Amino acid sequence: MIPFNKAAVVGKELGYIAQAVASGKTSGNGPFTQRCQRFFEERYGFTKCLLTTSCTDALEMAAILADIKPGDEVIVPSYTFVSTALAFVRQGARIVFADSAPDNPNIDAERIESLITRRTRAIVPVHYAGVACDMRKVLALAQKYGLLVIADAAQAVDSYYTDDLSETPLPWHRRLRRLNNRYPLGGIGHFGCFSFHETKNIQCGEGGMLAINDPQFVRRAEIIWEKGTNRAEFQRGEASKYEWIDVGSSFLPSGITAAFLWGQLEKLRSVQRRRKSLWRQYQEGLGPLSEEGLFGIPQVPHYATHNAHMYYLVCRTARERARLMAYLKESGIQSASHYLSLRSSAYYRDKGFGPELVQCERFVDRLLRLPLFYGLTAGQVKRVIGTVRAFYGHTG
Ligand SMILES: *Cc1c(COP(=O)(O)O)cnc(C)c1O
Repeated sequence: MIPFNKAAVVGKELGYIAQAVASGKTSGNGPFTQRCQRFFEERYGFTKCLLTTSCTDALEMAAILADIKPGDEVIVPSYTFVSTALAFVRQGARIVFADSAPDNPNIDAERIESLITRRTRAIVPVHYAGVACDMRKVLALAQKYGLLVIADAAQAVDSYYTDDLSETPLPWHRRLRRLNNRYPLGGIGHFGCFSFHETKNIQCGEGGMLAINDPQFVRRAEIIWEKGTNRAEFQRGEASKYEWIDVGSSFLPSGITAAFLWGQLEKLRSVQRRRKSLWRQYQEGLGPLSEEGLFGIPQVPHYATHNAHMYYLVCRTARERARLMAYLKESGIQSASHYLSLRSSAYYRDKGFGPELVQCERFVDRLLRLPLFYGLTAGQVKRVIGTVRAFYGHTG
């Protein structure tokens, strides 16, 4: 059986856990947490990073920091994971669901403006499969209407927007650019939310991170992170009393989780190299069939890189996807469809409004994700490719 995903130990994770336990410091915001946060701040130029117990938590923190209130509207793609919308629903927001682009499951930036009203407060681009949304257009709208940009970069670790953003500059872009000569995803908007769930490129079981790019939110972010207290400032000797000063929750992960994550981050380069090699193998094996029009394959726009988070096919019909999925399963290969449209979900269908989301529905019905994980072998990818080819009547 070739599983769809299998989380792996890639470096010294277990040794670091032993070290954290032996040190007697296993609660949050300890040495490993700070090491992980510094890694992202220094490598990508994010202003301030805080580890969280999930990307869901990072999104919730961003929604609190953005001061989203009942009646506010937040623009979210319908083709995404539930947390992207849930974080704002918890603040009382009304979610305005946006459609996907025709050639790519990301939000269709051409059609965001028609969704903006007097009540709109934020746009939440999701960089699906680690491929950047059209951030030049998203930022231009955000600046024109005074909106916050809160990126769901759950899948987007170590991926980039490569085009020019100098017409829509934000003060922290200079630092991103200086370090990378391009814009790391999660760093472009006011906030970026990452996931280290076991299905992501870098993982610690359950984990996440909030990148706070706009410096005006940094102080409050630390307080919300630590149950509404000034504990972090107190620990650094910047406050004389440790007390309750704001809302918040326990958003910080334990030192044991952070120790595991540090072991993964040390191996980021080799993890990415390995995933990209598997991704290219899929692309070379399946690209020719896509050219024959048998299915679509991931499209990476000229302004984006991909981080080999995901390889998928877009089948011609929902029925064909179901048949292909069953065929793969009979051949011992697990594949996965992806999101159901949030706008049509049991929870939201009576609350939502807005136009039909034609492209979103197309990806909901037809997108099929193939196995892609660190421990997958080239031989296994070859078998998956061969099985897809055989399904479409290609032999050899
Ligand atoms: C994985 C994922 C999330 C949720 O991440 P958790 O860390 O499990 O909370 C949110 N949004 C997107 C797009 C994701 O892929």
